Amino acid sequence: MPVAGGTHPRRSAECREAIEARQGFVYFDNRLRRIPNRKARALASSRRAVKIQARERHLMTAHQARICVGCWQQPHLPVPLRGVLSVPFRAFGIRPSRMNPNTCTICELMFTTVMRARKVTTDATVLFADLRGYTTLSQSLSPDAVSRLLDAFYDECAGAIWQHDGLLNKTIGDAVMAVFNFPIRSEDHARHAVRAAREIQRRWHLARKTLAESLGLAAGDLGMGIGIHCGELSFGEFGRSHRDLTAIGTVVNAASRAPSAAGADQILVTQQVYQRAQSDLAGSRPRANQLKGFQQPVELYAA
Ligand SMILES: [Zn+2]
Repeated sequence: MPVAGGTHPRRSAECREAIEARQGFVYFDNRLRRIPNRKARALASSRRAVKIQARERHLMTAHQARICVGCWQQPHLPVPLRGVLSVPFRAFGIRPSRMNPNTCTICELMFTTVMRARKVTTDATVLFADLRGYTTLSQSLSPDAVSRLLDAFYDECAGAIWQHDGLLNKTIGDAVMAVFNFPIRSEDHARHAVRAAREIQRRWHLARKTLAESLGLAAGDLGMGIGIHCGELSFGEFGRSHRDLTAIGTVVNAASRAPSAAGADQILVTQQVYQRAQSDLAGSRPRANQLKGFQQPVELYAA
């Protein structure tokens, strides 16, 4: 918002007069400020839209595949994601998926278009990453600072998840949920998730230094806990009035609870993940943890 002046008494008197005259000024926060008119508001909002589009473009192109990895792997179709060849596909709404830009919008809904079902039961790995102390931070930081914090957190998670062929299924306030083995299939999905988690932590360590400085915090204030679990889950579209494309099941619930047992900067995986990714987790010993909503203690391994 442009600031039209300082705190000069004559100016503030003018300002009050201007308010009365409805000339578009307010005296607010000890400063004279111009009330943006409709045209200025529209310009600001279009600039914001351009900024958001540029950010999305940056995210989509951070780790680019020329053709859809999911379609190439499954029905063996070369679906162009970028370049001139992708133009006719875009006309039919086939474009890079927002959940993984190396897959396409057909892949997201593979179960409806190819399998003709509203959901599929599949073996997959689920990863939850959550930002420590977010509730407290969001009360002490300005809305702009909170949005910068979340932008950086989502960006670092997305880059790492996509690098390991995961689907960034959801961002839920201070948490991110990723699914591995859908739509890009891999026998080694548990290992991919562990590597993605380590990459998230590595990226976050680098990014949070400057971020914390700019927010007037210590890097340690921006810790992150990660939990990973694998097994059979349902992936599909749930809900009638509001359709949500997501994974559900006990595997998802356990994965979502695991970060709460993790310390800041720690990754905890369940025994099922440990068994499938043992060579990456050598020397890790289990610890029983009581997770919310689970009657029996759950054994978790540090990764
Ligand atoms: Zn595809």
